[in-house]
Amino acid sequence: MIIKHIKEIQQLSDKLKIEGKKIVCVPTMGFLHEGHLSLIRIAKDLGDTVITTLFVNPMQFGPKEDFTNYPRDLQRDFELSKDAGNDYLFVPEATEMYPDSFNTTINIGGITEKFEGVSRPGHFVGVATVVLKLFNAVKPHIAVFGQKDYQQTLLIQKLVQDLNLDINIHIVPTIREDDGLAMSSRNIYLSYDERQKAGLIYKSLNQAKTAILNGERRRNVINGIMFDMLNNVNEITIDYCAAALAGSLEEPDIFQDNAAIVLLVALKLGTTRLIDNLIVNLNN
Ligand code: AMP
Repeated sequence: MIIKHIKEIQQLSDKLKIEGKKIVCVPTMGFLHEGHLSLIRIAKDLGDTVITTLFVNPMQFGPKEDFTNYPRDLQRDFELSKDAGNDYLFVPEATEMYPDSFNTTINIGGITEKFEGVSRPGHFVGVATVVLKLFNAVKPHIAVFGQKDYQQTLLIQKLVQDLNLDINIHIVPTIREDDGLAMSSRNIYLSYDERQKAGLIYKSLNQAKTAILNGERRRNVINGIMFDMLNNVNEITIDYCAAALAGSLEEPDIFQDNAAIVLLVALKLGTTRLIDNLIVNLNN
């Protein structure tokens, strides 16, 4: 069932709670793929009623980004989400989410001030603001997010912690194509030739991971392994290749032997911006 209005979803949520249902929310921008569907399936395991939200949030796109061209297909999303176990699809209009009088933003410091925060000014303010609005609309017990957007997962956890939101955050591993390319709604932008090269992103992450597991601890060497592999490809313009501490995103020159390290890559393949990451936890 598709629900369009904030009041309606709030009333539904209240009713479900009276019935004792555990509500799980899966925020998305739609054009669903297997990655999204894995979130929905896990959401169904975690609770009773799954509410997937579908909103291409204008506030998190920069003026030169792909908001207008972002792929959209509501009917397809409805069918796919339903088959994966979704109960309600919340699809608000931008005019209801952001009426002319709208004048509030959520700005989370620290972890948002590097990587995507630098490359996409205003992006995380848009994400934090819309996620809080979606949480206040859906009022879930649990919300599910993908590790694919690693920095975003840190932001959501900080949002919940700093603003005392009574919501459990569940992070789901990245779903990949056979060659390792992380599934993304944006992959449809890739030309045939670009798509052939896209598997290199995951390869570069794994090459850096192998070096770390073999004892490499120097951040610049680890970054260089990813950079060198990707920089060789004509169609690729690297934004960043970075190893950082997984919890804080701090970048020590040398990692400790018990560090949890996140490897982060952002680049343009042709005109399509792609991001990916891999966690190497030396503590395990
Ligand atoms: P998006 O529609 O791109 O905003 O993504 C909605 C949610 O799906 C976010 O929590 C993403 O991290 C997650 N997601 C996107 N791609 C994948 C993937 N390949 N595997 C797992 N989760 C994903």
